[in-house]
Amino acid sequence: MGAIAFVGLGNMGGPMAANFVAKGQTVKGFDLSAAACQAAEAAGAVIAASPEAAVEGVDIVVTMLPSGQHVLDVWGRLLPMAGPGTLFIDSSTIDVQSARQAHSLAERHGMVALDAPVSGGVSGARGATLTFMVGGTESAFALGRPILEQVGKRIVHCGDAGAGQATKICNNMITGVSMIAVSEAFVLAERLGIAPKALFDVASTSSGQCWALSNYCPVPGLVPSSPASNGYKPGFAASLMLKDLRLAKEAALAANATTPLGFAAVDVYSLFAENGHGGDDSSAIVRYLRDEAHAGATD
Ligand code: NAD
Repeated sequence: MGAIAFVGLGNMGGPMAANFVAKGQTVKGFDLSAAACQAAEAAGAVIAASPEAAVEGVDIVVTMLPSGQHVLDVWGRLLPMAGPGTLFIDSSTIDVQSARQAHSLAERHGMVALDAPVSGGVSGARGATLTFMVGGTESAFALGRPILEQVGKRIVHCGDAGAGQATKICNNMITGVSMIAVSEAFVLAERLGIAPKALFDVASTSSGQCWALSNYCPVPGLVPSSPASNGYKPGFAASLMLKDLRLAKEAALAANATTPLGFAAVDVYSLFAENGHGGDDSSAIVRYLRDEAHAGATD
């Protein structure tokens, strides 16, 4: 396997690049942040002076950036500089339309492209246990799979261009909606005088069972490994949940899909973030709902 250019060495990209290095790959990294570059260099990556310099002589390019516009800008700079047939993998979470645009751009330059967003968060990035949801042709997937296996534990081919991003936002719409639903149930139970443990013991073994309840319970003390039991430190920050829910809403509008609960989840997380809680874990939404319940109480 040839050298890897890695652009976007932040919370996720930094540890992913470090894991490629740990697997024996030559990684040429670039980030606008000097601190991110220093951390990647300390982990064994070679830091390039520019994104263009990072792609010189590599066979694989991985990007891990904040938004679709960042990805299109960076790919727009890198594609003309890369050798023919270079594999471009974008692992950022971005809108489906930009992902498809990035694929077309790559194709036009004679490159191979995959959209490969991840779930598993920073701990998954550090532990090389990420799940990759991948969009692109069968042949591109066959090329990309062994690369992604070095930094992830589950690699799923979801379909053609953009299918990875589409799958990711559908999954996260389930997570966002179910986190609110579980939180609402605990708030209602509290108001009805039911102990949280009683609801947990019943719902986690009944039809209310779901990941947000059983693995990521928003009420402290019921699931020891949940962020709630650790002061609501992320975890998965509310601002990132809101980003993904907004992408799902945008995709639903574009595809004319009816997702009223997905839309409502955007509103709930927007209010939470606007009130200064974007940096809290997404499960802290239960606190916002509890306060609202008290604010609205008339007894
Ligand atoms: P981050 O902000 O920590 O990292 C993004 C990095 O991109 C920053 O270091 C920034 O300096 C760099 N950057 C921005 N524009 C650039 C450019 N033009 N050239 C080079 N570098 C540039 O964000 P993150 O938490 O690492 O997330 C990255 C992506 O992964 C996002 O799309 C996010 O939604 C997704 N994601 C994050 C998590 C998570 O838990 N943090 C989980 C799953 C997916």
